[in-house]
Amino acid sequence: MPALSDRITGINGGGSDGWDVFYRARAMIADGIAVTELTIGEHDIRTDASILNAMHEAAMAGHTGYAIVPGTPGLRDAIARRVSDRTGVATTRDNVLITPGGQAGLFAAHMACCNPGDTALYVDPYYATYPGSIRGAGAVPRAITTRAADAFLPQPDALDAAAKGAASLLINTPNNPTGVVYPADTMAAIGQTARDHDLWLISDEVYDTQVWEGTHLSPRALPGMAERTLVIGSMSKSHAMTGSRIGWIVAPAPVIERLIDLATNTTYGVPGYIQDAALFALNAGPSLEEAIAAPFRRRRALATDILSRQSTVGHISSQGAMYLMLDIRATGLDGEGFANALLDQHQIAVMPGESFGTSAKGHIRVAMTVDDDTFARSLTTLCRFAETLRAAA
Ligand code: PMP
Repeated sequence: MPALSDRITGINGGGSDGWDVFYRARAMIADGIAVTELTIGEHDIRTDASILNAMHEAAMAGHTGYAIVPGTPGLRDAIARRVSDRTGVATTRDNVLITPGGQAGLFAAHMACCNPGDTALYVDPYYATYPGSIRGAGAVPRAITTRAADAFLPQPDALDAAAKGAASLLINTPNNPTGVVYPADTMAAIGQTARDHDLWLISDEVYDTQVWEGTHLSPRALPGMAERTLVIGSMSKSHAMTGSRIGWIVAPAPVIERLIDLATNTTYGVPGYIQDAALFALNAGPSLEEAIAAPFRRRRALATDILSRQSTVGHISSQGAMYLMLDIRATGLDGEGFANALLDQHQIAVMPGESFGTSAKGHIRVAMTVDDDTFARSLTTLCRFAETLRAAA
């Protein structure tokens, strides 16, 4: 067989990525062992029946042919209105490209902002696909590390030092995996860095409807930022539509024009009946989004209560998204060792902090994606297990 391209063979970057425990949990389940999975970011509910009905009706009405590549005018308008209302930044359909999910948006944004070999920045700990998306686009990923003591927020001096010679900066708030919502001073420092170093800012806001504390701020609304910011949005988390693959990029109109060229030559758009269902879901208003966020809001309150009654497992307050980042360093184990032991002894699967880079070493990420009782029971077991380990250490 001829050699594959460096671009595709290099996407994964090689090395251990800390996902072994996830695959081991899946293998145990395949062997019939009951494992509680608190691993990946997917709701324990399915897409609402009303959204599926809208999808069915659109398909039956014939919206099954090629859809117009940038997205249907109705959906682009609805997203532009939503973004204008939430951020105060004037936004029209010309600022919006519909994409098959946020992930396709992340890749397309880096294709638009980086030449081959350019440095693309991202913040560690990070969502699993970030370095691969950057490498896939031909750019070179450079991590900005953070510290648990700073709630994993990127610090101004670290941003400034990393930015020299870079082309783009990717941020994510509300954050996966930490659950942190970036405050105004962090956002101001990010904006300052982007302007000082003439960077594109790629802002992953797919969890913007899941905020438990504080306020979601979009950096596109900061002074001088709309002209250099590409916002990644998605219906996956806000409307439990992970399998429908529908998201968007909001960016300056000339950027969207070029992104339409890319979409024409890659995805060729998003199915019309999915777009019609997404429009229906957005028009259903905030109550539907709130109902989808509510289970995580409840479980986050349960977790705060359980964690406050012990002192072995530390945590930074989860202010948004569907995750808790727990500090298990008092047990003497690293995240991977703890996650493996918890899986073996209690059949509870969590993600080691090491699977999100180097900054969250000694931590684990817990996804709040099982029913309330199972969640509370599992978290209590996890804390007791940590206490046992600490006592034995
Ligand atoms: N960004 C973040 C931070 C995520 O957690 C995810 C999904 N887990 C995505 C982007 C991609 O989501 P999707 O492609 O389903 O919109």
